[in-house]
Amino acid sequence: MQTSETFIFDKIIFGPVKSRRLGISLGINLLPTDSKLCNFNCIYCECGWNKLSTRNKTPFHPISVVRENLEEALKHLKEKNILPDAITFAGNGEPTMHPGFSAIIDDTIALRNIYFPNSKVAVLTNATMLNRPIVVKTLKKVDLKIFKLDAGTEETFQSINQPKSHRSLQWIVDHLQYFNRDLIVQSMFLKGFCNGVFINNTSEKNVNSWLRLLQTIKPKQVMLYSIDRATAEKELKKISKEKLDEIATKVNELGIETMVS
Ligand code: SF4
Repeated sequence: MQTSETFIFDKIIFGPVKSRRLGISLGINLLPTDSKLCNFNCIYCECGWNKLSTRNKTPFHPISVVRENLEEALKHLKEKNILPDAITFAGNGEPTMHPGFSAIIDDTIALRNIYFPNSKVAVLTNATMLNRPIVVKTLKKVDLKIFKLDAGTEETFQSINQPKSHRSLQWIVDHLQYFNRDLIVQSMFLKGFCNGVFINNTSEKNVNSWLRLLQTIKPKQVMLYSIDRATAEKELKKISKEKLDEIATKVNELGIETMVS
């Protein structure tokens, strides 16, 4: 259901939720539980606009607290006989910003191996921290590395994602090469006004440029989706399933698998 209010996860562990893209997914939010913290400020963000500054010292959840919360949740699922398809890092911002991201992934993989060895560990990320070798090395350990790529041109990237860290679209594309095709791209399609400017990443120009970027990145899958819940910018419109299917067909013609939701 679409509501007018954006949403903040008030826990470290949430769900499990039924996700079309990931199946039964237990979520992990490494960001604050009372506010969003991200180095993008996407106009469609379901957590609303950034309020915390990425420059402030943020009290991240201690590594041990994340591990204890996760183990408790996994034990609970085991008792209830609920098998998660995925343990997914998402939530109130960019998970790779957590300074203990590497240790937390190691803990998560270890706990997954004990409780649900067939579940996948997934990370949804905006790729902005790939300048840190430890983040690249850590992401290579997870089963599903899902990177955001909503734009084909720098102008659309700046308008939709509003990066805080002087990142350019080309910088993101260059750094995705580290994964040697073992990655998934997730792309949000939308149109509408933001600050009086019309934004439409389903335009022929943007889609054609985005397809060229996909040819460089060569992901194993592209997930295409549109708005489902309240967004930071209220003037945005959902894209029809027919239009998403039309774009997905162009991706398939490049020999890349797609999932439309
Ligand atoms: S990267 Fe994700 S959390 Fe960050 S602003 Fe964009 S949608 Fe929101």
